[in-house]
Amino acid sequence: STTRRPLMAGNWKMNLNHLEANLLVQKLAASLTEKQLTEVETVVLPPFTDLRTVQTAVDGDKLLIGYGGQDLSPHAGGAYTGDISGSMLAKLGCSYVVVGHSERRAYHHEDDAVVNAKVKAALTHGLTPILCVGEGLDVREQGTHVAHCADQLDGGLAGLTPEQVRQVVIAYEPVWAIGTGKTATPEDAQEVCGAVRQRLAERFDQDTADQVRVLYGGSVKASNVASIMAQPDVDGGLVGGASLDAEEFAQICRFP
Ligand code: PEP
Repeated sequence: STTRRPLMAGNWKMNLNHLEANLLVQKLAASLTEKQLTEVETVVLPPFTDLRTVQTAVDGDKLLIGYGGQDLSPHAGGAYTGDISGSMLAKLGCSYVVVGHSERRAYHHEDDAVVNAKVKAALTHGLTPILCVGEGLDVREQGTHVAHCADQLDGGLAGLTPEQVRQVVIAYEPVWAIGTGKTATPEDAQEVCGAVRQRLAERFDQDTADQVRVLYGGSVKASNVASIMAQPDVDGGLVGGASLDAEEFAQICRFP
């Protein structure tokens, strides 16, 4: 993990209007030094309606904060009412986009084929997809969580070349730990993040597996980030609730 730059990505979900978004980005930038922002890549993932505001804040003050969308359409454009394309996100200066978050899979019935098409759409537009995988409580209790996540990984990355896979970030998010305050133990996080890397080596190649960043997500907080980040195959965090508080998220980004 020594050569992989840590990444902390704050998923705001459906929270914060554009005024609140501006305030949070300004506070976050004020709480982190340039050195800290260089050591740990810091990214916010606001609702679409906040992206122009975040772009203005980041560009205006040349902040070392990245940003991206929480979803994108698998289509390039056309008659898809309510959807947002990869080129629209790229035009707003996004560098990341979340793909296959468990809330999208659950509430919008996104299957691995759709998730795969979205990963490809993101790459087409130069966006780094943050591909989410993770098991629900039922699968965890059956003990088949590693196989479940490997299947989602295979599905999401189907048809990609190793070069393309190196442009992807994976996030392991056990559904039972998202927004529940129930964090996976550092050992649980390592088990699946390590298995994800192993799978990447098997499906693609060892170089690719060594380069891809694998994040853990699920009730990451300032108080538990250090023990999670101490795991060899955990390269960062996808942070929901705790990313809405500038000081808490800044503390998470200052974990080293
Ligand atoms: C998430 O939504 O990606 C997430 C990890 O949420 P939380 O940190 O609130 O559990």
